[in-house]
Amino acid sequence: MHFTRLLFASLFFVSAICHADTWTDPAVAGKEDPAFLIQGEYGVAESGQAWGAHVIAMGEGNFDAYLLEGGLPGLGYTREKARTKLTGKSAEGKTSLQSEDGKLTATIAGGKITLQRDGKPLAELARVERKSSTLGEKPPAGAIVLFDGKNLDEWVMEKDGSPADWIVGEGYMQVPPKGEGVGGYIKTKREFGDVQLHVEFATPEKVEGNSQGRGNSGVFLLGGYEIQVLDSYENESYADGQASALYGYKPPLVNASRPPGKWQTYDIIFESPKWDSEGNLLKRSRVTVLHNGVLTHHYQDSLGPSGHKRVANYNQVRDKGPIKLQNHSNPTRFRNIWVRELDLSANE
Ligand code: MG
Repeated sequence: MHFTRLLFASLFFVSAICHADTWTDPAVAGKEDPAFLIQGEYGVAESGQAWGAHVIAMGEGNFDAYLLEGGLPGLGYTREKARTKLTGKSAEGKTSLQSEDGKLTATIAGGKITLQRDGKPLAELARVERKSSTLGEKPPAGAIVLFDGKNLDEWVMEKDGSPADWIVGEGYMQVPPKGEGVGGYIKTKREFGDVQLHVEFATPEKVEGNSQGRGNSGVFLLGGYEIQVLDSYENESYADGQASALYGYKPPLVNASRPPGKWQTYDIIFESPKWDSEGNLLKRSRVTVLHNGVLTHHYQDSLGPSGHKRVANYNQVRDKGPIKLQNHSNPTRFRNIWVRELDLSANE
């Protein structure tokens, strides 16, 4: 009896330690579980390639991989081309996967994936890390730094204006774990209208949940217009709910997502809606978004502040509002956030 209790207590303790802080930190995750060193993109970061591959660590040594005809997304693969799923496991330093029909097999070892079709060599692809062209972009003259990795002085809780309770780590902020008395959206103390906004984010390195439950957060302009943050690296969900979607309204032009745990960028140009003195809408909001340097929305209008399972409408008469970040109970991280107020009146 005592032994059983002790065993259970020990197992719980070991499990608690093993799961501590493995969510988002690549260095810690890689040390505690080598699977995170295998997860990622494989291929060449140039167009004109025959194949690319995406590998995802699904936990407990299990892996999913997708072989992409034409190279990595953005460099050759398009949805008309072949995308074949392989599944497998790691054992003794080697990861072996195969397609459902058994025709495609893959081995991952030493930072490479070796592919075979019908037992014959098909391709050997090295792990590659593609970085956004605007990663680490410095704030331009006149910009307001909303988060420089040190403190949440520019932010408060949305619900009551109290100090923002999100976690601040070394150079990043993170959505806190679900729990009583903590959590909730945060918003800027200042209000903004027409802006250029730079945001860097990373969804959790450790893949948990699926669809809207994987790395969900969001960047809201004018307090209500969400540009979705989600782990959309081989994570199927509804089209206008994926990363970089204008939530509930417009899917992005392309899926420019990077693997879980990698820093990604949004560069957003937002024009707030314009109203007459009686509160009649004169002009809808417009937004242009670059996700990892790739255009995902071009001067796109919207139907108003976004919402879950409802059609938006312009029911809030405002042309200035806070920038908000969503707490969706997934430990997503943010860093390097700055905003530049735009005077577009000269264009009107
Ligand atoms: Mg969201």
